[in-house]
Amino acid sequence: MEGTPFILSAPSGAGKTTLRRMAVDFFPDLRHSVSYTTRKPRPGETDGVDYRFVDEGVFDGMEARGEFIENAEVHGKRYGTSEKDLKTFLAEGLDVILDIDVQGAERIRGRLADAVYIFVLPPSVEACRERLRGRGKDAPEDIEKRLEASIGEIKRAGGYDYIIINDDLDKAFGELKAIVAAERAREKRRAAKVKELFNV
Ligand code: 5GP
Repeated sequence: MEGTPFILSAPSGAGKTTLRRMAVDFFPDLRHSVSYTTRKPRPGETDGVDYRFVDEGVFDGMEARGEFIENAEVHGKRYGTSEKDLKTFLAEGLDVILDIDVQGAERIRGRLADAVYIFVLPPSVEACRERLRGRGKDAPEDIEKRLEASIGEIKRAGGYDYIIINDDLDKAFGELKAIVAAERAREKRRAAKVKELFNV
């Protein structure tokens, strides 16, 4: 049985990366799809774990060869999901969480059967600004640029299957766990297991 892709999108500062890390630590059979990006690593980020950090030339080559199932430009940098990496996990029966922006999520629709779309919202714009400032990794003008983009993204949350409002991290993580567990228990994903157990 193929694994399930969970598409996690959110405006910057909503706490999506923290939630994704918590989910991958919690569920042993859930993997993070590590994206390719042309942006520089932030302090504390590791190549191959947080992202695969590549230059424009490598990214161009991958795009030209059609190796991305989706790719997009976000805040002036390029990001993409390798189709091969993703499909390898899914074929092994592993669920995969994709931490991608709204454009990427829209592009992936129709290319991935049975994906589950989850949108993480901050409790307010001010909370978003505070989180971005607090992590101290972005210049003030970048923070304002990200906030402006966030409003545009929030307007597109309507097409998602689930919305998590992250006003409390434990509560938000509880909801994410519940979504993953419920999706795994759907009849269509358990049909093969039922057949195996009861030969019906
Ligand atoms: P950051 O630079 O803060 O890590 O990420 C900026 C935005 O790019 C986030 O919304 C993140 O989810 C998104 N992103 C990361 N990887 C990908 C990807 O492979 N494709 C797309 N479309 N967006 C991505």
